[in-house]
Amino acid sequence: MRSELYIDGKWTAASSGAMFDVVNPATEEVIHEVAAATAKDVDLAVKAARRAFDKDGWPKLSGAQRAKYLRAIADGIRARQAEIARLEVIDNGKPFPEADWDVADAAGCFDFYAGLAEQFDNNPEEPIALADARFTSKAVKEPIGVAGAIIPWNYPLLMAAWKVAPALAAGCTVVLKPAEVTSLTALELAAIADETGLPPGVLNIVTGSGSVAGQAIIDHRQVDKLAFTGSGPVGSKIMAAAARDIKRVSLELGGKSPFVVFDDADIDEAVEWIMFGIFWNQGQVCSATSRVLVQQGIYDRLLARLVEETKKIRIGNGLEEGVLLGPLVSRRQHEQVVAAIEAAKAAGATVACGGKRPEGFEKGYYLEPTILTEAPLESDAWREEIFGPVVCIRPFATEEEAIELANDSRFGLAAAVMSKDDVRAERVASAFRAGIVWINCSQPTFTEAPWGGYKESGIGRELGRWGLENYLETKQITRFATGEKWGWYLK
Ligand code: NAD
Repeated sequence: MRSELYIDGKWTAASSGAMFDVVNPATEEVIHEVAAATAKDVDLAVKAARRAFDKDGWPKLSGAQRAKYLRAIADGIRARQAEIARLEVIDNGKPFPEADWDVADAAGCFDFYAGLAEQFDNNPEEPIALADARFTSKAVKEPIGVAGAIIPWNYPLLMAAWKVAPALAAGCTVVLKPAEVTSLTALELAAIADETGLPPGVLNIVTGSGSVAGQAIIDHRQVDKLAFTGSGPVGSKIMAAAARDIKRVSLELGGKSPFVVFDDADIDEAVEWIMFGIFWNQGQVCSATSRVLVQQGIYDRLLARLVEETKKIRIGNGLEEGVLLGPLVSRRQHEQVVAAIEAAKAAGATVACGGKRPEGFEKGYYLEPTILTEAPLESDAWREEIFGPVVCIRPFATEEEAIELANDSRFGLAAAVMSKDDVRAERVASAFRAGIVWINCSQPTFTEAPWGGYKESGIGRELGRWGLENYLETKQITRFATGEKWGWYLK
């Protein structure tokens, strides 16, 4: 396991010598220490990224040349898939099969952007038809420069891949800061990139706190672009910091996503996807469908089945076979989610199941999967992101009412609808004010499709070709193409 910073192609201790603990959320044991980067370390990382961009020619390589490194990184991840997935489990707490899936997805993300980098070579210029025939013009895409990427702890390696792969494919260089509670797999990514011979400075990984290392990245004048995934309040800070020197910015923030189930849906299918939509990754998913709206004709039966199946979820250490719900990521997160459940009860919600530490788990940040009914529409439980295995469920009567309730949120990341009536499902899908809509499912995420939110859930889109656009500027090159004189001053 790595513990130092990866700056300019070298492993380096933090300038202050400070380290911080890595805790296994299943056991509460300190399993490792990693370096706590200071503003000075961040400055070194940004300068290395600057040099790699401005002088050493990373953006001047062809897309195909950059793609070779990306494919080698993908291969490197796959070659160590089980080992990296295990690291993710002991760092984040998620069940091993989920971690294994994340690691495979991260490798796939590097392959996908390698493909786009190669295509980019074939289509770098777009001719523009001008009304004035004396001129010709074309639009070209160029990398923005040095990207500062700041990521959360819920998908540690995958979030790193979502930022690093498109940025490098576009020709940007990167300084990445993982979340302080989950640094380990980002450091392994650096080790893999290093093994591929990636030129020094192209990718730099600085571990450390948000308030010191993160703040130093967003304040740095030589960073051209900030790419952030995390909470709304930090997203606001990042946008404000970017405003000072007009850094490009993309934000992927939180949500309180609705799942509308009509009464023609199969109850077992609905229960399966409702559970996947909120209990997968312990509910620590920005797009989790945490507000479930069920048409009144099937509400009672569906709720009873949902409670029955939820109580059967096997809770435990993510390394144990058959476990489907691990611990939350940290003591702080556990405290916050428990406090949110208590506040929901005080506001009038009823706990249909869960709501407390499971029996037999004295250690570890475990919490039972929780279903809340009767959460008032104005309560935080209904309106604010809990970011844990906690779902609010309520009945509705008409399609119109369901859409109104679904859209009555300051967030707009995702939404889901289930119905056997395809026309109705499409109609509701288009009525949702959200960037990601699922029909007859919730959560499946594909590298090829755009990802991001409406309203306070963010700005910009990751993944797919939109993810590459995040790291590109558009330049017009216009030529005076006649042999004639312009004749304004010089007649
Ligand atoms: P967070 O905002 O506290 O932290 C995210 C990252 O920002 C961390 O790396 C942290 O160190 C850093 N940070 C904190 N303060 C900073 C500062 N002042 N300057 C620069 N960086 C700073 O969020 P979290 O607790 O890590 O993650 C949970 C939140 O992230 C949830 O609200 C969730 O919805 C959101 N999230 C969104 C998506 C998405 O795709 N939209 C994905 C995952 C998580």
